[in-house]
Amino acid sequence: MSSKSSSQGLATRLVKGGTSPVFEGGRAVNPPIVRASTVLFESMDALEDARHRRNNERMFTYGARGNPTGFALEDVVAQLEGGYRTRLFPTGLAAISMVFMAFVRPGDHVLIADCVYQPLRHFVDTFLRPWGIEVTYFRADGSDLAQQMRPATKLVYVECPGSLVYEMCDLPALAEIAHRHGALLVADNTWGSGMQYRPLVLGADVSVMAATKYLGGHSDVMMGTLTTTQDAWQPVATMCDAQGVAVSPDDAYLVLRGTRTLAARLAMHERHALEVAHWLVAHPAVARVYCPALADDPGHALWKRDCTGTNGLISFEFAKADPAAAARFVDSLDLFGIGASWGGFESLATVAKVANTRTCVDWSNAGPIVRLHIGLEDPRDLIDDLSQAFARIGDGL
Ligand SMILES: *Cc1c(COP(=O)(O)O)cnc(C)c1O
Repeated sequence: MSSKSSSQGLATRLVKGGTSPVFEGGRAVNPPIVRASTVLFESMDALEDARHRRNNERMFTYGARGNPTGFALEDVVAQLEGGYRTRLFPTGLAAISMVFMAFVRPGDHVLIADCVYQPLRHFVDTFLRPWGIEVTYFRADGSDLAQQMRPATKLVYVECPGSLVYEMCDLPALAEIAHRHGALLVADNTWGSGMQYRPLVLGADVSVMAATKYLGGHSDVMMGTLTTTQDAWQPVATMCDAQGVAVSPDDAYLVLRGTRTLAARLAMHERHALEVAHWLVAHPAVARVYCPALADDPGHALWKRDCTGTNGLISFEFAKADPAAAARFVDSLDLFGIGASWGGFESLATVAKVANTRTCVDWSNAGPIVRLHIGLEDPRDLIDDLSQAFARIGDGL
């Protein structure tokens, strides 16, 4: 990364990074899709030289080691995250699992925040624990992390803001605790997308993102990214190459295309989500709106200090305790799609079963919670839709 590019704004880097090579004449704005398994060399010497260097340098030597389209996306993501280098994965979850394969071994202990993306708990139960890695969970705000550190703790894993209800943690403080004990701090940065939140800049060693969400941005491609500081890089590169991790150049192209407009889309998601959030706060059927950008959210001070904005995600809790209300509400929506994931251009709604995804804090007394992803539609139409859904379930006034 040149010193010039490291001083540029993130929106500029999204537009200027990952460029095309020059063809006869000129170059395209975007890099070409390079489909390849075999890569040809001019001589055996050239082949041997590339093979020799590829463990430390990024070289195009074989399709399983990555392709130039993916390399262009890696460069953009590394700049976005403020990291040293990036590797790409077929899904966000695959990027997360690689973190553990690269950095922990049987006998090690890992601490994971209570608010993590739920399928990580499944990975813990089906892979980490059976393979002899000890795992404990700590509170989403990190308040008990220092007490829970052990001599065998190798890795601390956070997600900030957390899944579903967006708990904030003091990431620089948690990084300090982890490093004091010789452990790495890893962050799931899917919420922040490298635009709104930058864990590597705040002290984390590794950042993973589901590019499936805002980077792709159009609900038509799956991808994960893993970016590290220079010190943490080599174990990731070595394990990825050992396992043959690569993504299709077509998918990398789609994600790169999405990242070009990331700044513009996020600004619009944020504006629309805040408009809907403020409307929900004032609605009599709503007990609480979860979004760290709101002034009375418990994470607001940390959000203000560490984030540069928010995105399209908001969750809200019904004042009524009727557990069926959330599902009936979601079923009553017309404009919102019902489905998993988020980060595309369209609005989505789902029931957030927070109590089922937390083990450190008891959420069983909370009212039913709905998670909304606010898309790029006209927010007045979204509010009209929410309003009629409250009315339809008898919660209008
Ligand atoms: C969606 C998501 C993932 C997983 O991404 P996939 O591409 O769906 O595997 C990981 N972390 C968070 C916070 C997510 O929201």
